Amino acid sequence: MICPCCSGLEYKVCCGPFHLGEDNPPTAEKLMRSRYSAFAVKAYHYLEETLDPQTILTFDHKGNREWGDSVQFVKLEILNAEEIKNKATVEFKAYFNKDGIELTHHEISKFRQQGGIWYFREGKVQNQN
Ligand SMILES: [Zn+2]
Repeated sequence: MICPCCSGLEYKVCCGPFHLGEDNPPTAEKLMRSRYSAFAVKAYHYLEETLDPQTILTFDHKGNREWGDSVQFVKLEILNAEEIKNKATVEFKAYFNKDGIELTHHEISKFRQQGGIWYFREGKVQNQN
């Protein structure tokens, strides 16, 4: 299976090892990609494990799962990725279908590295255009 994150690689050598806990994404962009593909393969545990320990308590796990189950993921497009020391920003568009309608989720996500591991901190949804 080709990885849903649109890297063009096989899932088992791309995001698969991250989802299985065999490896950690070396960059925030790879973490972003693997979080998208975790939605696509319904590896929700991974979405929870990669949340920043500082924001995990405020996260709506149930809402996240319900949303993930209600859509089909089409593709991911990374628009920009920047890393400065232990902080990173990744801008992306995720394309998905909901009830037969193609929709786009445009977000700027913030990531933080702690103990050599990248975590998702928060996302800001951008206006659709
Ligand atoms: Zn991947």
